[in-house]
Parts: sequence; C-alpha cells; structure tokens
Amino acid sequence: MEIEIATIGGYEEVGRQMTAVRAGDDIVIFDMGLNLSKVLIHDNLRTEGMHSLDLIDMGAIPDDRVMSDLEGDVQAIVPSHGHLDHIGAISKLAHRYDAPVVATPFTCELVREEIEDEQKFGFDNDIVEMEAGGTMSIGDHGCELEFVNVTHSIVQAINPVLHTPEGAIVYGLDKRMDHTPVIGDPIDMERFREIGREGNGVLCYIEDCTNANKKGRTPSESVAREHLRDVLYSMEEYDGGIIASTFSSHIARVKSIIEFAREIGRQPILLGRSMEQYSGTAKQVGIDFPSDVEMVGYRQSIDQTLERIMNDGKGNFLPVVTGHQGEPRALLTRMARGETPYDLEDGDKVVFSARIIPEPTNEGQRYQAEKLLGMQGARVYDDVHVSGHLRQEGHYEMLDALQPQHIIPAHQDLSGFSGYVDLCESEGYQMGRDLHVTRNGNIIQLV
Ligand SMILES: [Zn+2]
Repeated sequence: MEIEIATIGGYEEVGRQMTAVRAGDDIVIFDMGLNLSKVLIHDNLRTEGMHSLDLIDMGAIPDDRVMSDLEGDVQAIVPSHGHLDHIGAISKLAHRYDAPVVATPFTCELVREEIEDEQKFGFDNDIVEMEAGGTMSIGDHGCELEFVNVTHSIVQAINPVLHTPEGAIVYGLDKRMDHTPVIGDPIDMERFREIGREGNGVLCYIEDCTNANKKGRTPSESVAREHLRDVLYSMEEYDGGIIASTFSSHIARVKSIIEFAREIGRQPILLGRSMEQYSGTAKQVGIDFPSDVEMVGYRQSIDQTLERIMNDGKGNFLPVVTGHQGEPRALLTRMARGETPYDLEDGDKVVFSARIIPEPTNEGQRYQAEKLLGMQGARVYDDVHVSGHLRQEGHYEMLDALQPQHIIPAHQDLSGFSGYVDLCESEGYQMGRDLHVTRNGNIIQLV
C-alpha cells in the first residue's frame, strides 16, 4: 500500500497546523489550525466573514491546495486537541471535504462553537465524538484510527494514530509527559510502547518540536499547581487587590486558581469572553471543574461586576482575567490602563500564570501591560507556569517507546527543528534517509 504524508501547515511556524496522510485510497487529515499572530497583527481584523484564500495569502490558515496532489478520498478530519492552532481553520476549510470531524468531546464542543461564529462558509460535515482509547475503521482497506491519551495544557488532548498495513503513523502533536496531571488521566506511555512493538511497528512519527531546543524534562502540571499554591498562600494576609491571569483554555490551571482563591478566603470570578467560553464548555461536557464559580463574559457586565467588587471590597475577591499576553483589548490591559471601575493601588498583586509566548509582538505588548500595572503600584508575579510541550528528555522517551522507522519534525520553524535533528541523529537517524525535515506544502512518499 502506498503511504504519503503531506506536510501542509505548521512546518515553518508554530501555528496553522495541518498534515494529511494517504494510505492507499484513503486520506486522513490531522489538524486544521489558525496562526493567530498573523490575524492579530492587523488591527481588529474580523476573520468570521473572510474568504479562505485571503486567509491563506495572509499565512493565517494552511494552504491546503496541495491536497489536490494526493489521490484518494478524505475519510476523516482529526483535530488532536482544542487549541486554535489545531482547530481554528476548520470553519474555513472543512467544508471542502466530504468527511466527518472526529475528536474528543471537549474538542468537538470547541469546534461547534468555532463553526457557530463562521459567517462566510456553510458547514455540514458530521462531528463525531471519540474518547481517548477509542478506535474507528477508516475506508475499506484495513486502516484504523486510534486515539492515545496524552497530557497537554488543554484537557482531552490525544495523539491520533493511523494504523495501516504498512505500520502505524503516529501524529505526536502536542504533548508533555505528565504522570500527575491535575485533570484527566496520565499520558498513556504503555500504549505507545505497545504500538512500537506490535505488527509492523511505527512507520512514521510526526513530532511536536516546540521545546526541542530545551534540555531536560518539562515539569508536570502538578508542579505549576504547587507553585501557584505557594504564591497565593503567601498573599493570604494581604487585604487589597489580587488579580490572576492565565490561558483561558487551560482548564486545569483555572481550576487550581479557583481552588486556592477559595482556600485563602477570596471569591474567584472568571472575567472575559474567552474565560467564560472555555470554562463554560468544560462544565458543559462534564469535566471535573468547579460548577459554582461565577463567570462573566461581556464587557458591560464585566464592568458592573468590577464595580460590585470595588463596593464590596477588593480583599474579598480574586478576579481571574484575560490578558496574560498583554493583548491590547483584553481585560487585564484595560485594568492596567485604568479603563475599568477596578482601582489598582500600591502593593496590589497581579499573578501571571502563563509565560510570554516568545514572539516580538507578545513580548512588546506584555512589557507595556506590566509597565502600566507597575505605574499604578501593582506588583507582578510572572511565570507561575509549566509548558505543555516535551523537552529533550521527553523526546528521547518517545523515540524509545515508538522506535519509528521514519520521523518528521513539526510545530516549529527550521531553527526550532535543529535541536530535534541533533537528538534524532544521536539516536541513529539520518537527514534525507529516515529523518525528514520539511516545509509547508510538501509531500513525502514513505512507501
Ligand atoms: Zn496545543
């Protein structure tokens, strides 16, 4: 059976991930993501009404025109998890394929919300929920799709595996090796080891190289949780304002903030549209998340809530807000500019439970937000966070478990791939033979 892999997006950047695997006549697409930084750089661009080709030209969504060079039928579109760089282009591209979107329940719900906002294209693909550990047959030639549970900075992340008669194709985006995640099951390394040893083994492994230039091991989410506990407990005696900000989609982190806020005698309130969206979705699909926490999404209601907080006393509350990257329109930035009823005073605390995404735009915006907070007397706690992506020791462990015949580095640019290439070479792989460094828009024939 011929096996080809089309590296469509996310092979020159972190963002707009998309990869297609053809096994004989059957094709499976992994991820259809958005490169949000290409959208945000234009002031107030609304993508909902935009045409795919314009977004492709901007570099915001994958250029899927290479799909016409793959001869076969798309059987499934499989987002690995709910981050926008993996699902954000489904509303713009999925309608071109007569295939269902197959994902875990939380990811499916986020896809449904994404599609609701879409104004340009109709969407009538089926959305099929499959849990981690589930399998589904693909086409009529003996291929099977399997979801292996992994741990990442969003709940219900999986690595999809396409089992073919020639061996397994393991799509390894995005994960860290977490044996004590705060929500959900640990990464299923046992299953990865089995897949590496059963049948024809692993024909190809496509790997997330986000942190491949970093030595050592990515800590567990439980380490970030302890760090957060330490920071918030140290503020227990403080009776002024405490504000926290983190990734809205990071449900486990938001949950930890809510719990520790309560433990130090404050009422947590989630503020901001995306905070309300992701946490609301987590509650809706039955994830282990505090059900009684107040969430406020719209600007007018947010300002009313902040007014209420000021009247009742800042010391009784812990607002969890959007804006950890200093995004100009996010709530924390508005608070920093003094545009909300919440008054910051000398000594008030702002906890960033996030790291700055290493891009000049983010770095500049976050710098500005922190300076503005500081001008009002606020004290900043930054980097109360762990990454969601493997570092080098995790990569070694994955190679040892899977023993893949071929490797394709992904989810980075060329400089980001470099550490992973060195690592693979030290394990006996060779560029051009079984280690395929590639760019967007290429097709690699494996069999
Ligand atoms: Zn991700």
